[in-house]
Amino acid sequence: MNNPIQVTQPSLPSFQEYTDEIQGLWDSKWLTNMGEKHKKLELELMNFLNTPNISLFSNGHLALENAIAALELTGEVITTPLTFASTTHAIIRSGLNPIFCDINCDDYTIEVEQIESLITENTSAILPVHVYGNICNFSEINRIAKKYNLKVIYDAAHAFGITVDGVNVANLGDASMFSFHATKVFNTIEGGAVTYKNSNLTKILNALKNFGITEFESVDYVGGNAKMNEFQAAMGLCNLRNIKTEIQKREKVYERYVVNLSGVKGIKLPSIQRGVKSNYAYFPVIFENVSRDAIDFELRKHNIFPRKYFYPLTPRFQYYHKRYNSLHIPNAEYISERVLTLPLFANLTIEEVDQICSIIIAEIKVLR
Ligand SMILES: *Cc1c(COP(=O)(O)O)cnc(C)c1O
Repeated sequence: MNNPIQVTQPSLPSFQEYTDEIQGLWDSKWLTNMGEKHKKLELELMNFLNTPNISLFSNGHLALENAIAALELTGEVITTPLTFASTTHAIIRSGLNPIFCDINCDDYTIEVEQIESLITENTSAILPVHVYGNICNFSEINRIAKKYNLKVIYDAAHAFGITVDGVNVANLGDASMFSFHATKVFNTIEGGAVTYKNSNLTKILNALKNFGITEFESVDYVGGNAKMNEFQAAMGLCNLRNIKTEIQKREKVYERYVVNLSGVKGIKLPSIQRGVKSNYAYFPVIFENVSRDAIDFELRKHNIFPRKYFYPLTPRFQYYHKRYNSLHIPNAEYISERVLTLPLFANLTIEEVDQICSIIIAEIKVLR
């Protein structure tokens, strides 16, 4: 049997490049608490993302929770059910009520036509997700947010490095959260960031991740601990040096899937939105009239491990079942029951893509 092919594989610099990057830490003895590597990575990311404000975190989830705290959200937050557990949990763990808006079936992002009908006097924000790297209809979301005086935080965990009409997505809304988890396009092992519009947020975001400490002997917020350490930041500095080639390699894999699977009946392939420069993070395929689970089973038999991102929908988690059992989100249900995210990472070979595709095509013939 071949080596297993997972849905993703972390991008890593050479061992030498990383050890060169961390060597100085043995001299400085400064391992965390906003050290040299941390400061350098912040500057380089601001440059790469072409954005004026950034705060680094130990992971994307805590970046999101702290963005919610810094923007002082209250009451209800309109969000999407087709996402990773983190988005919904972050809202609820912050003592807020997620209000689930359905998705659209074109790009699987929040259905902007439905947002206004969900707004009440308790709504404080919209928290959409650029799911699979598909960018939300931000101009419409902006218009609604302005009209009702709402904040907008994007879960941009899938959207690192993406630009829309030349503008980096880090600049959309009041704030955006990025995840630098090992499995994401850009990784710091674990890690994350918040980019934000209002530079007045710098003080609170930086304090919240460090116990609320603002200055020596001065604690101004009830903060926790969510600091990115120097070893994480060093991995980020290395991976950022190589990000362009990593994304180019992903693009080749993505394009090969498109060539191999175009025109196959019964499946819908992802497509890149107009004006968007993609990061080729994911390849979600919708199996419309063949069983997604049968395809998944067949691939697994061949030691290939796609994932059902995102099934179940977050409000359908066992834990939330009673709370949301009457929720009506037909588009999200439709996609969640049919989606299979195929393996995609920089070092996946063309031969492996071909192998994955021929298994899928053969199985579709058997099933129809
Ligand atoms: C990965 C991810 C997160 C959480 O990020 P971590 O860095 O793993 O904490 C949040 N939202 C989405 C959509 C994600 O894919």
